[in-house]
Amino acid sequence: MGLEQNSANFSALSPIGFIERAASVYPDRAAVVYGDLTRSWAETYQRCLRLASALSQRGVGVGDTVAAVLPNIPEMLELHFAVPMLGAVLNAQNTRLDAETVSFMLDHGEARVLITDREFSTTVGSALKRVQQKPLVIDVDDPQFEGGDLLGELTYEQLLTEGDSEFIWQLPDNEWQAIALNYTSGTTGNPKGVVYHHRGAYLNAMSNILGQNLPPHAVYLWTLPMFHCNGWCYPWAVTAVAGTHVCLRHLLPEKVFQSIDRYGVTHFCGAPVVLNMLLNAPDEVKPQINHPVTVTTGGAAPPASIIEGMEQLGIQVVHAYGLTETYGPSVFCSFQDEWSLLPLPEKAAKMARQGVRAPAMERLMVADPTTLKPVAMDGLAMGEVFMRGNTLMKGYLKNPSASADAFEGGWFHTGDLAVWHPDGYIEVKDRSKDVIISGGENISTIEVEDMLFRHPAIMEAAVVAQADDHWGEVPCAIVTLKPEGEVSAADIISFCRDNMAHFKCPKRVVFADLPKTSTGKVQKYALRNMLQQLDLD
Ligand code: ADP
Repeated sequence: MGLEQNSANFSALSPIGFIERAASVYPDRAAVVYGDLTRSWAETYQRCLRLASALSQRGVGVGDTVAAVLPNIPEMLELHFAVPMLGAVLNAQNTRLDAETVSFMLDHGEARVLITDREFSTTVGSALKRVQQKPLVIDVDDPQFEGGDLLGELTYEQLLTEGDSEFIWQLPDNEWQAIALNYTSGTTGNPKGVVYHHRGAYLNAMSNILGQNLPPHAVYLWTLPMFHCNGWCYPWAVTAVAGTHVCLRHLLPEKVFQSIDRYGVTHFCGAPVVLNMLLNAPDEVKPQINHPVTVTTGGAAPPASIIEGMEQLGIQVVHAYGLTETYGPSVFCSFQDEWSLLPLPEKAAKMARQGVRAPAMERLMVADPTTLKPVAMDGLAMGEVFMRGNTLMKGYLKNPSASADAFEGGWFHTGDLAVWHPDGYIEVKDRSKDVIISGGENISTIEVEDMLFRHPAIMEAAVVAQADDHWGEVPCAIVTLKPEGEVSAADIISFCRDNMAHFKCPKRVVFADLPKTSTGKVQKYALRNMLQQLDLD
């Protein structure tokens, strides 16, 4: 074209520049609200600069890991900017894990610094006794929380006083440089360390803005843990729109509703289990919602009845699908205008599908896992979900064979089974390890659960395979009833038989609480073990 490419003008894609922009364009707007504390963008940016400067003086630099065991408080947000300003890598750890796993992650990730909070001092204290390489420990000494012990050499606020608010940071030379390390939940064996790069974090933040229609100055409530895939990249996305981060230490329905009302929250995220908790909260804590609020749900399949319930409450739902390996949301059920003309149950059924690639994901397909040939877009043929693009992890830390398997054939293998509808929307039917094969037919446990959630007496339900001499496997439902719910196993089975193909209906119903992972997913392997144990007893 006759134009010389002037690469000197190009810089790495990285989300850290978002905060500098928010602070210079909107210095006085509220960046963070936490209880009675409000901080502006100028103040928040200054705190990030001081933190980056203080960590740098203590030797933290490019490629070093800074671990955090923190709730959704302002300090956790600051770390999402200050740590990558140094080229260092943020390892936000799941706060609900046991000491052994925490110590495994600290050693495996070679954490040089650990920033923690009194709330988790028992677990973190015993994790620190086990580690081979002790990190520098810094405590957030939050005046809004009572209890627990200080474990470290200094507090977060003391560390900030060591730092320089004029600190000059650099964008990384290479946008593929690591920005974060997030461990998978490790249901079998040790967790795997998923490494994110600056480019992916930037792009996924932008993708969230488009996928969830995040407007300028969105007021975002932190219900999703920031440790979960870096809060699905919302620390960066909300900062990019110079929004307000409303922090919440504990996820309690009354606090969520109060915050929506008090701070004018416009957006939040939560797994379906969180939405179910909000729907089942006592009526007296549910306010009349008088302004537009959108929730993005994902992390597990939302039953259509939950989407319906939220819409009836006046909260609009966006459905997202993704994995730790895809920076959280990488597929959105993008809303089509004509759906709004449908009756609510039909609209909710459309929205319960996982959808289409998020703007930043290059390609998505449902394909045969051996040939990688896409399945027919007929809503019937099942295949595995594959993705390709810039919002996929760099790989698993120190685990080349698992990384190679994950990207075999040039596509990321999700391990989820789905169908592809004629309109191009995918619908996840199951994790490949959870699908039930009964008399040669595949049964989607998600589909059976969706039906069970429609029963008025059922609070929540999960379906797993149970061995059967005749059929190979049959569905078994584990059900928790609502406090006032009364129904027999036989009635639940006949409710299903009245509403779906008989071979898909549970053959057995067990009443029990559902064990969940720390990110709100039902632990199906634990339920399968529980059933085996019940049969042995
Ligand atoms: P882990 O794999 O450690 O449990 P992830 O958060 O990475 O943690 O979980 C990703 C998995 O969660 C996906 O592979 C899929 O099975 C499930 N998942 C996430 N979002 C959805 C969704 N919207 N619908 C159905 N399943 C989902």
